[in-house]
Amino acid sequence: MTTSRNAITRRDSFRLAGAAAAAAATARAADANPQAQPTAPAAGELNDDADVLVVGGGTAGTIAAIQAARAGAKTMLVERGSQLGGTMTVGGVAFPGLFHAWGKQIIAGIGWELVTETVATDGGQLPDFQAQKVPHWKHQVQINPYVYALLAEEKCLQAGVKIAYYEFPLSAEKSADGWSVRCVGPGTRRRIACRQIIDCTGGGDLAGMIGLERLREDETQPGSILYKVGDPYQPGREQLQALYVHGADSSNSVTRTQANLTGRQAVLKRLREAPAKGGKPARLIHLQSETAFRESYRVLGETVITHADYTAGRVYDDAVCYAFYPIDLHTRTGVKPKPLAKGVVPTVPLRALAPKTSRNILVAGRCVSSDRLANSALRVQASCMAMGQAAGATAALAAKGKTTPLDVPLADIHRTLREHKAIVPGA
Ligand SMILES: Cc1cc2nc3c(=O)[nH]c(=O)nc-3n(C[C@H](O)[C@H](O)[C@H](O)COP(=O)(O)OP(=O)(O)OC[C@H]3O[C@@H](n4cnc5c(N)ncnc54)[C@H](O)[C@@H]3O)c2cc1C
Repeated sequence: MTTSRNAITRRDSFRLAGAAAAAAATARAADANPQAQPTAPAAGELNDDADVLVVGGGTAGTIAAIQAARAGAKTMLVERGSQLGGTMTVGGVAFPGLFHAWGKQIIAGIGWELVTETVATDGGQLPDFQAQKVPHWKHQVQINPYVYALLAEEKCLQAGVKIAYYEFPLSAEKSADGWSVRCVGPGTRRRIACRQIIDCTGGGDLAGMIGLERLREDETQPGSILYKVGDPYQPGREQLQALYVHGADSSNSVTRTQANLTGRQAVLKRLREAPAKGGKPARLIHLQSETAFRESYRVLGETVITHADYTAGRVYDDAVCYAFYPIDLHTRTGVKPKPLAKGVVPTVPLRALAPKTSRNILVAGRCVSSDRLANSALRVQASCMAMGQAAGATAALAAKGKTTPLDVPLADIHRTLREHKAIVPGA
């Protein structure tokens, strides 16, 4: 799959050129609106170009896109669903952590900005991060997922990110300048010419699609479906009820369908078994629209973060952010988090975001290159956000310098991250 972007067929080039001409007036009139269509959405394919294409607008992808755009890259975000936030909003896991370790903030930047603005907008409260004799989850931040999704979208648009909902990549081919990515959505076909890709799909879907190596276990952690039976749901003030969905697998639409069928059947069973109150049946007050996935594929990167590295708090030469959470492997019988030793704060190297032997593509989020145990901790939301910001800054710099992410000077990445209020290990 190494067709050059210049090698599109003659028919394609006529169609693209015609569409571009037809849309020129529209594009001019649409001034700085990032949602403006550069080509007419007629029968043909839409045609976009971007410095950075982020695939997946979830926990990591939203932050990656905002960071890339704020760093000056023309940025496009393709999300297969209808809103931003991924597992935090569509999955209903509105409990991001951990931004603090041992009484000190270790992750800040754009993720922290969004989370704290969500809490403030919703009149909520931040935990006491100084309290040390409490379980780790008490330092997670309770957020209203609806407010988070709205603010995430607003910040993307303000930064100039062009969002394409309901679309996903069908193919990605190398071109002279980077990539030519074909996306589809209901009634839409789109070709995006971009310099850099950041795969934030959770399971490294795009990396897998283009043949980059991924890691996966025979048995994966269960997913969960979140719901509430009983009193009205108070978003931002409480966590939802959750049922394990064993075998939940985000790999493709078939496995995702199965996870939703299994999860919803379990909720229905739970509802039917719920005791009646005052002679009235228990009510299902809230049900997330999708099962949330803990584990599927991890990308094989230039560096694989091992359990030993993670628990030792190894500070990598090319560290771009911190991560902090107990080892947290869910099994058929539940989970027993294993806290890190006092004072340990693991780091994430850029090379764990760079798929092995790749050029012009990074990943961020739970598909970070890591072994299974390390990943059970690295996958949490604050860490995914920090990785997203690091990937966004790096991709923007790579696009600007017309180079590949691992050739961007680390000092430039660190400087850009610090300019955007991220916390950089060792800096
Ligand atoms: C039940 C459960 C409980 C958890 N509890 C906590 C907790 O309490 N605290 C915490 O911090 N973390 C928790 N986690 C972990 C954390 O929520 C996730 O690991 C993290 O949110 C994953 O972020 P991500 O950006 O990698 O993926 P996601 O947030 O899942 O984002 C992936 C995005 O990519 C989109 N996408 C996927 N494929 C494509 C495609 N091909 N094309 C376009 N778009 C695509 C998806 O629609 C989604 O928006 C929990 C996870 C689960 C499942």
